Order: sequence, then C-alpha cells, then structure tokens
Amino acid sequence: MDCGRQYPVDQIIYSCETCGGLLDVQHDPEYLKKTITSDLFDKRLGTYEAPYNSGVWRYKEMIYPDVPNDMVVSRPEGNTNLYRTPKLAAWAGVETLYLKHEGENPTGSFKDRGMTGGVTQAKVLGIERVACASTGNTSASLAAYAAWAGLEGIVFFQNKQIAMGKLAQAIAYGATGIQVDADFDRNLELVRQVAEHLGIYVLNSINPFRLEGQKTIMIEIIQQLRWQVPDWIVVPGGNLGNTSAFGKGLHELYEIGIIDHMPRIAVIQAEGANPLYRSYLNGLTSMEPVHAETVATAIKIGNPVNFKKAVRTLKWTNGVVEEVSDQEIMDAKALIDRQGLGCEPASACSLVGVQKLVRKGIIKPHETVVGILTGHVLKDADAVLQYHSDTLEGIHPRYANKLYQSEATIEALSSILETKEAEPA
Ligand SMILES: *Cc1c(COP(=O)(O)O)cnc(C)c1O
Ligand SMILES: [Zn+2]
Repeated sequence: MDCGRQYPVDQIIYSCETCGGLLDVQHDPEYLKKTITSDLFDKRLGTYEAPYNSGVWRYKEMIYPDVPNDMVVSRPEGNTNLYRTPKLAAWAGVETLYLKHEGENPTGSFKDRGMTGGVTQAKVLGIERVACASTGNTSASLAAYAAWAGLEGIVFFQNKQIAMGKLAQAIAYGATGIQVDADFDRNLELVRQVAEHLGIYVLNSINPFRLEGQKTIMIEIIQQLRWQVPDWIVVPGGNLGNTSAFGKGLHELYEIGIIDHMPRIAVIQAEGANPLYRSYLNGLTSMEPVHAETVATAIKIGNPVNFKKAVRTLKWTNGVVEEVSDQEIMDAKALIDRQGLGCEPASACSLVGVQKLVRKGIIKPHETVVGILTGHVLKDADAVLQYHSDTLEGIHPRYANKLYQSEATIEALSSILETKEAEPA
C-alpha cells in the first residue's frame, strides 16, 4: 500500500519486499463495477447454498472473486444481527443507536470473518500449518477454522491475562497451543520469525486476506439498513485490523457506486492501550508504541501493526479517535449485558465511546450511530463475575448485580425476594 509494488495473489509474503510496507488485496475496479449490484447481494439473503449462505461469502465478488467455491473454508460466519437499542441510545445521548453483534459469529467474535478469508487462502496456497499470536479471539478462531479445514493450527498466547473462554476454545478445537513468556506485541514478532523458519502460514491481522473478510461487517450493516449509510460507525481499536478493513470496504462500496457517501468512523481505545489515540492528538503523522495495560484484554495492544491502514481509514472517513477508561468500559459492558445482549469487555468501548463523543459535541444527537460489539459475553466470564462481586482491581462497579446466598428454606428465599428492590432495566 505504500510504494505500489504488486505481487501475485499466490505468493507467500506478509510485507513489501521493496519498502517493508503493509500489503493490501487489490481488486479490479472495472470487474467490481461491472459485476456488483445491491440486488445481487439481496438475492442471496436467506439462501442455503454454500458459500453464499455466509455473511462474508455473500459478497464473494468483493472478497476473493476467483477462488473456487469448493475451496472456501466457511462455518458459515457473519449474518450477525443489527440490534436497535433505544435504552442504550438514550444512555449514550443519541436518538438512534444500533449495535451490530459480532459475538454471534461461530466462535464468538468477528475474528471468524477474517479467518474464513485467511484459512481459505492457506488452502489455496496448499499450506498445512497455520499460526498466529493472539490476545485470545484470533487463536480461538484460527483453531476452529484450521480444524474445519483439516490443517494444523498453532497459537502463541501470552502467559498472563488471557480470558479463559478463549484459551479453552483454542485447546478444545485441537490447536497446538504455546504459552510464551512475552506480551502480545513480542509474540507477534516471534510468530513471524518462527513461521518463516518453518514454512508455516501466518494468520495475524497483517494477513491481508483476513482484512478482506472483516470488511464485510460494513457491507452487511449497510445491507441491513437497506443500503442506507449510517452517520457513524463506532468500533473498539486494538491491532486496528477492523479499523483498516472497514475503511477499505467502505471505500470500495463508494467507488463501485453502492453508497454515495462515506459514514464517519470513530475508533475507541482503552486509556491503557491508546497508541492510536496519542497519534491522533499529534495529527497522525507517526505512532509511538506504548506498554499496554487494560481489563479489556482483546485490545491490550501497544504497537498496532495496522497503524498505516488505520490512518488511511481515518482520512477516507473523516474519522476520529477517542479513549475510555477501564471503569467506563466495565460499566458500559454491564449495561449492554443487562439488556440481554451481552458482550466481552473490549466491545463495550463502542457504547461508552458514543456517549463520550456525544458529550464532546462530535456525534450529534440526531445522527444515526452503529456500534460494533466485537465479542461474546462468555468469552470472559471471569471479568463478569469479578465485576459483579466487586473484586476487579481498580474498578468500582456502578451496575453490580449482586449474587445472593440462601438457606434452603421457603422463609429465607422469600425474605430475599421480598426485600430486594426492583431494579430498573
Ligand atoms: C480482536 C478484537 C478486538 C480488536 O480488534 P482490532 O481489529 O485488532 O482493532 C476488539 N474486540 C474483540 C472482542 C476482539 O477479539
Ligand atoms: Zn512497498
């Protein structure tokens, strides 16, 4: 994406050999303009036919047009719901808020949309081992898709602060799991080096085929809104894969003529892992890595590899970046959870980010906002139970739902149920 050098789609390569820059999948704009209409995508809604039954491969012409359908590794992913949430909208200060629940993907996070692209590419390349470093969800997804495709999955975890649901998934799906004594950023360097050494295909979000899958979150939202463009898309930012993919997908929709203007993107980072936010304050000219600390482990990333693509997205969409505290994240999560929706901590950045941007006057109350819920509530059950029992270090739960203990008698149970105040939803 920096120097414009081109490589064939079947070359195994993760960065530009000339300039070291990030790679981008480049589609043929003439083919896209000729082939794609909103009608084509609408006709496939509700089909049982693979791979078009997937919310990624419904848009195959925009993702990987010439891959044979029987090579596609799909669970199938996507087709996640877009929830209109009036109570949370009122809390955040806008009239219309939708939450797109990417936790409804096969392994419980949006990573599946990228993994179907990446593992399909591994099959195309004929590679039998795939690997990633992960804060958790990428490894859960990689493990599942590798197993489904009959490949060996290899995941490098950090040895501290991994959400149990994610680790359990990777092990259950049969991946080779290695806990490495290093943080995410160091693990990512290691996996790239070891993989090169051993001929393993790397499926971290530097892999451009993953971003092709993830951009379908934008296409699907706009399709669910009957091809109308919301004013804002609000998304948590960690390694900035989504941020990068969203801009690319929207830009392509715009170039094809499916949408006539771009929504604005707001990227929300945790205060303790905010290198993009800091860079934004300095005009996005460069980024200083930070030492990352946050309760939202999915975005505990200090040196996001997709920085340059994220900057491109912010420029294309007149985007903004905001930061939120762990306290704000966990309280917003509790509100999303008690709507009956539920999400993991990182996802709650989207909701509290909207509130913050409304208070700053950047998002206007009448504007239509779509927030992305990136992961499922069960991914991090520890965080839920610790929050509600007030044992999360440094967090004072504003919306704790206390767990009662009772003797096994009608009197004891009745006394709890009669004295408990009814809580507003
Ligand atoms: C991976 C992940 C993120 C961060 O997304 P990026 O694309 O790395 O910015 C946020 N939330 C959840 C639940 C994730 O799994
Ligand atoms: Zn280059």
